[in-house]
Amino acid sequence: MRPIVLRCEASFYEGLSAGLFQQTNKGLQPVHFISCSMSDTEKRYSQTEKDALSIRWAKNRFSIHLLGAPTFKIITTHKLLIPMFNKTTIKLPPRIEKWVMDMQDVDFEIMYDPGKDEADPLDFLSRHPLPEKENDETERMIKAIIHNEYAVILEQLQEETNKDEQLLKLKDCVLKTYWERNKKNIDIIPYYHIRNELYVAEGLVFRLNQIIVPKTLQEKLINSSHNMGHFGMMKTKQMLREKYWFPTMNYMVEETIKNCFECQVTTKQLYGKEPLKMTEIPENLWEVVSVDFGGPYPDEHYNLVVIDKRTRYPEVEKLNTTACKQIKDKLMRIFATHEISRRLESDNEPPFNAVEFVNFAAEQGFEHHKITPLHPRADGKAEAFMKVLNKTEQIAKLQNKDSAIAVQEMLVGYRSTPHLATGVSPYEALMKRRVRTKLGYIPRTNDDEEITDEKKMNERDKCYKDKIKHQAENRNTRDHNFKTGD
Ligand SMILES: [Zn+2]
Repeated sequence: MRPIVLRCEASFYEGLSAGLFQQTNKGLQPVHFISCSMSDTEKRYSQTEKDALSIRWAKNRFSIHLLGAPTFKIITTHKLLIPMFNKTTIKLPPRIEKWVMDMQDVDFEIMYDPGKDEADPLDFLSRHPLPEKENDETERMIKAIIHNEYAVILEQLQEETNKDEQLLKLKDCVLKTYWERNKKNIDIIPYYHIRNELYVAEGLVFRLNQIIVPKTLQEKLINSSHNMGHFGMMKTKQMLREKYWFPTMNYMVEETIKNCFECQVTTKQLYGKEPLKMTEIPENLWEVVSVDFGGPYPDEHYNLVVIDKRTRYPEVEKLNTTACKQIKDKLMRIFATHEISRRLESDNEPPFNAVEFVNFAAEQGFEHHKITPLHPRADGKAEAFMKVLNKTEQIAKLQNKDSAIAVQEMLVGYRSTPHLATGVSPYEALMKRRVRTKLGYIPRTNDDEEITDEKKMNERDKCYKDKIKHQAENRNTRDHNFKTGD
């Protein structure tokens, strides 16, 4: 069988075209040419998307020749598509990602060839396509994702994007691929280097999975995510980055936090006194938990804090005493939800040193490990969360708010933000699924992909602890604000 070559093309306004050839010793012999018009939606795709679409479309139309065929060549006139279709791990705009996935049933090699002349039948065909159109699921999928993900603020984002002059210019640039002529345009410069990650859908401009936020909503968005728990810079940035992006986002987050009154009055720098002792990340979910108390707070309540040492998932229970009886009740509640952990770590202070607690451990069948007072900061995990929790309590008091509600709100934010050590949000790491928060929700579209890569989590955790240890050892010479578990 002679090698097959497939050439695909999309014209800017009219349609898609493709030609199937066979490689012979006399050169490429045409076998079949096809063309079709683009739908109105497809006409609004970026040129990269149009060319990617032409490949997927041609593959489907010629599937009778291509399925099961030995490796064949696909020739495109759009250079950017080469890495995208070469199954590298780069992130792709979702439409293109879907079409690349659709190509998995054939064995191909993609090549770039700009060479075309006026007499090229493909060029002619894509400009004078047959009036037939294809039915495509792609738009339904993209629409469903966006509506699901941003339901709460979608309309507002659309409305403000349509009023944002800079974004309107950017949209035009993306849709018409006017990058080169706008290279020096002050409104376009911040986006030029990421031009291949941009696309337009549902009236919004996206950078991969992130919405580009219009000017009028930027501050509001930063404030509402920071206020969820008054988290530090890293965490606030990470929380936003899950779904949003704009060129000055990092800077604005830093300014917001530097000027946040509540953060200023409640943040104290803590310095480590003892060398840090690092521990391995437990292998299984909820296998090892650490237990600690926050408080007493001004109204004399305490918080019992239980944290899973693998996922960093925290549970908080309000207490009015630290008596053993109440601790046991609350722990049972938490164990009932998550299972009884194999090992529980706490300090050696009351009530953990009481006989009643020893009996409780024996009854429930967990191993109780008391951390030596010499290494109270054993790996800083619970302690970092305690700082966040205590700050939430202080701010609630300051603002005269119900601290129980403030704590719950902080928990939503904390659990749904990727943890610095693992790179995965505690929710996702423990529950194995994404969850909805008021900042939005990202449903998974690819069922095959494992939600959390456990091995990667272990590696990141190791790296993170090494970094913390290194920083702790050089604490006297360093000058920055990085805090454990910030
Ligand atoms: Zn703050």
